[in-house]
Amino acid sequence: MSETLAQIGEQLAGYDPQSLSADAVLTFLEHMVKPLAGAETVPLFQALDRVLAADVISPFSVPPHDNSAMDGYALDGRSLPAAQNLQVVGTALAGKAWQGEVRPGQCVKIMTGAIMPQGLDTVIAQELAQVQGDRVHIAAGLLQAGDNRRLCGEDLMAGQPALLAGTRLGPAACGLLASLGLAQVAVRPRLKVAYFSTGDEILSLGELPREGAVYDSNRYTVHGMLTRLGCEVLDMGVVRDDPALLEGAFRQAAAQADVIITSGGVSVGEADFTKAMMKKLGDVAFWRIAMRPGRPMAVGRIAQGDRSAVLFGLPGNPVAVMVTFLAFVRPTLQRMMGLTPAPLPLLKARSQAVLRKKPGRTEYQRGIVSRNGQGELQVSLTGNQGSGVLSSMVQANGLIVLHHAQATTQVGEWVDVMMFDGHI
Ligand code: AMP
Ligand code: MG
Repeated sequence: MSETLAQIGEQLAGYDPQSLSADAVLTFLEHMVKPLAGAETVPLFQALDRVLAADVISPFSVPPHDNSAMDGYALDGRSLPAAQNLQVVGTALAGKAWQGEVRPGQCVKIMTGAIMPQGLDTVIAQELAQVQGDRVHIAAGLLQAGDNRRLCGEDLMAGQPALLAGTRLGPAACGLLASLGLAQVAVRPRLKVAYFSTGDEILSLGELPREGAVYDSNRYTVHGMLTRLGCEVLDMGVVRDDPALLEGAFRQAAAQADVIITSGGVSVGEADFTKAMMKKLGDVAFWRIAMRPGRPMAVGRIAQGDRSAVLFGLPGNPVAVMVTFLAFVRPTLQRMMGLTPAPLPLLKARSQAVLRKKPGRTEYQRGIVSRNGQGELQVSLTGNQGSGVLSSMVQANGLIVLHHAQATTQVGEWVDVMMFDGHI
């Protein structure tokens, strides 16, 4: 049985649900979730963005033979770098090796990818060789032994791991698996994530506008971010602020999904039933995080039958949803997906604005990164940084991360930026 949230909290020095740093949140979540068990085998074309379930050991070396990296002439490099005058005695083609014997003073015309003829270890590029009839002249100092030859196993060595479990299979990794002749691959199960929006003022698309109501944008941002992560998304729509409806939604989500994400209804002043229902159905902590935007967040587990789903109750504000997702939900889901955790790459850019800030909380400001006249990266603000201003997320290409201990940044100072590339 998993530890309760209280037990996890006890192990973490200074754990205070009422005031948590962003780092403390990440540490807590690391303790809270484990990678999903199991694996399935999929054809390579369906493996893109899945997570490798086991190490892949090269069944053979790639390339399987020493071969030429150039179109040119293959020779024995032992008498280099002195000038050479060689007789061409044959041709080696890619896919059609030259089998004959090569004696001193001879060379073989060779194409890129062709197996190096026996005893030859160096290739001169066609355009550098002076060719006259069947003779090739190579100027002194032009070439060293071993030039333009690809070594057997220089890409992958037989018996060595080609890819490690926990690798996300991007286009390069899929190509690498294909180079090993593997038509299928064992991957982790896809993470099932159920999402619903809460709040009586939230309209589903297609509903008529009414005073005080807003269309549900969180459902679409969350759906997009989950899809980009490679999760299977169970869309559960908008759930009214009604105990029976909320209970039904949480139970249905917990019965089907590995993770439940909701938005709205977790802030301190909320008069609705969302928090009460989370508390009733699960082991849930209500946090106040020292960050902006996105201070309130609920985290926990909801059990249904013999299953238990991880719960993230995100704040309602559209920017806060995206920021808390990127900062906390994404790394947690990646861990559950079996991905080897990698810190988010942060770029350094020079701030073009004064960024006012007090130490003691992490702030995420919407930034536009570009290059200045000196070729350095610089970052400007998108304007209104309100946590409901979703257009700021559209204009931005990254989040400026002002770390917990950081104070006000002056114009021209370097700041960290978390780029959106591929996530948003
Ligand atoms: P809450 O966290 O429920 O207090 O919501 C904070 C703000 O976010 C309110 O202005 C809500 O109207 C807005 N909000 C909550 N849920 C959504 C949603 N699904 N789509 C758009 N805005 C939302
Ligand atoms: Mg609300």
